[in-house]
Amino acid sequence: MTDYSRDRVRSFAIVANHGAGKTTLAEAMLYICGATEKLGKTDDGSSILDYEAEERSRKMSRNLHVGFCEWGGVLFNFIDTPGFPTFLFETESALSVVDGALLISSGATGIRAQLDKYWQLVLELGLPGILFINKLDKENVDFEATFTEIEKDFETKPILLTLPIGREESFCGFIDLIELKVYNYDSKGKAALSDVPDELAGDANAWREKIVESVAETNDELLEKYLEGETFDKDLLYGVIREGVVNSKFLPVLTGSAAKLIGVDFLLEVSKRYMPTPQDRPPVKGTNLEGEATDIGAGAPQTPCAAVFKTISDPYAGKISIMKVLSGSFASEATVFNSSKRSREKLSHMSRLIGKKQYPVTEALFGDIVAVSKLKDTLTGDTICLESSPVLVPLLKIPQAVISYAIKPKTRADEDKLMISLGKIREEDPTIQFRREEQTGEFLLSGTGQVHVEVTVNKLRDTYGVDVDMKTPKVPYKETIRKSTKAEGKYVKQTGGRGQYGDAWLEVEPLKRGGGYEFVNKIVGGAIPKNFIPSVEKGVKEAMQKGVLAGYPVTDVKVTLFDGKYHPVDSSDIAFQIAGSMGFKKAMEDAQPLLLEPIMKMEVTAPEDCLGDVIGDINARRGKVSGVDPQPGGHVISAEAPMGEVLTYAPELRSITSGRGTFSMEFSHYEEVPGHLSPKIIDEVSQ
Ligand code: GDP
Repeated sequence: MTDYSRDRVRSFAIVANHGAGKTTLAEAMLYICGATEKLGKTDDGSSILDYEAEERSRKMSRNLHVGFCEWGGVLFNFIDTPGFPTFLFETESALSVVDGALLISSGATGIRAQLDKYWQLVLELGLPGILFINKLDKENVDFEATFTEIEKDFETKPILLTLPIGREESFCGFIDLIELKVYNYDSKGKAALSDVPDELAGDANAWREKIVESVAETNDELLEKYLEGETFDKDLLYGVIREGVVNSKFLPVLTGSAAKLIGVDFLLEVSKRYMPTPQDRPPVKGTNLEGEATDIGAGAPQTPCAAVFKTISDPYAGKISIMKVLSGSFASEATVFNSSKRSREKLSHMSRLIGKKQYPVTEALFGDIVAVSKLKDTLTGDTICLESSPVLVPLLKIPQAVISYAIKPKTRADEDKLMISLGKIREEDPTIQFRREEQTGEFLLSGTGQVHVEVTVNKLRDTYGVDVDMKTPKVPYKETIRKSTKAEGKYVKQTGGRGQYGDAWLEVEPLKRGGGYEFVNKIVGGAIPKNFIPSVEKGVKEAMQKGVLAGYPVTDVKVTLFDGKYHPVDSSDIAFQIAGSMGFKKAMEDAQPLLLEPIMKMEVTAPEDCLGDVIGDINARRGKVSGVDPQPGGHVISAEAPMGEVLTYAPELRSITSGRGTFSMEFSHYEEVPGHLSPKIIDEVSQ
């Protein structure tokens, strides 16, 4: 095995919106480094990283995938992340463990707002990054416009390191602006180097000057030298840029085409030069088992510690936990301590992964990303360390599921396997939630977006052989009354043999919203014997399960039993239950019954330029906006809206905000359905 000395490991996450070319670039890196013999492609389903059937057919990563390769004596561990906002948790999990980010912008579409959001996230996590402007071989590419957008939108100063040569079809390489060398690529991604021709020298020098200016502006001493006309040699440029990158002050920008393997070797070289080593990174803020703060990683005692950031539950290979070593190192087969679960584990079959292919290793190094098979208690988010020096790394907050669908197993066999299969999927993906909704009886599968739930349903089918139907869930409406009334429930049956007799007078009164249900017994003088009072209440409760309007449960009602009659022989428990039920139904019919609908409390974050549209849309959904709070990440809108109007809010918000809006919502309370909408809801139930 290659001996990677301590500063020869790099780890980064590849981050961008869907379709920018993340997987293509990752496959290209593997190919250029010789880690794969054939170039995997997402278009024809030959991607090594997107190995799940669902990912191949949708041409879309839904999970993060890890890979590694070696370039110039450096071990690169990288994580290819999914680009859909729905799977943001996967991207966040990846970014929370790596030492840097490789951002991709597809030159063809310009900087998408989402990329800016990803960069904000990268900065919030204190990570440095490199940006690769991809797809320069495609039509309508304007790399300069892209660069200008970055200069305008990003907080960090971009440094263009390569100037493209040729456009669209004829794009063939670039000028390395520090060395002033032309890189001209062949179809195998190999570059022929030459001097800059005269006709390009002017442009190249002007762009190079921009780099020099940015470097000069980093401190007064350099600025003075610059103003005095001193030239900076390339080693100084490399050194200052590296420091700027490691401290997230500079964002190196490269140009290329992942599909045509243009600039991929250069990207690896630049990553080797500028991406921080584990020693460059500040320590991770962890705690000991007593909750006292302790530093983990560089600058702290090198006691072994790793964070598990992904679990793969493979029906054949079993459970695979992927972890990043944050401090020290681990030997394969060692017994370690899961400090999150307080249990011992064995690091069996330790390997590095490329997609799902395992490459066994004997040691996981500081900064390394490795997979371990069949840990018994360990799940995503857990900390692995030594029992003798236990530490805990803070957990990532699992995002709230924001959209639910009702799922129904197609056959009995599907039903039997459903829970176990969903349990396994949740091991891999803690953002999936499932539960039975008591009132509607539906089985709800909830996720961070519509695509998330769809992908989970497909995974149930493809991986676990469980077929389910998926539909928008029913809204759990309720019923109540507007006014007080009294009614008699009388059940008399006297046809031969022993009869039945129960007679109960009930008063129903509305309670305030959220008041639930109250039962008061005001029988005096034994009009109904004591032992039949619970029977009447039982009958009332049963009738309340199905209201008179549309069969929804009744709530916010006080029921008073104030009179009645009995028969010494014919009265029975069942007769008084029926009387109670009849009395309640009759009273409810006369008490102006009405429908109640669940209201959700929402918090929507939207960028300023679509604030008006988002608020307009909430209003159109009968929502009420109670506040708008400008925050650095966007305006936070507080609102309430009826559940029935926001069942499919996730995809709609995405389209209004071009994927930049986020939201969370939770049940708040019940409110009256506006009178003009009730008939429609009642009709739907009776159909
Ligand atoms: P991801 O969603 O970011 O992982 O994007 P993919 O790697 O799946 O690429 C999306 C699409 O862009 C695919 O059709 C790729 O073939 C295509 N693509 C990626 N990189 C390039 C490139 O450099 N040039 C061209 N012309 N197409 C590219």
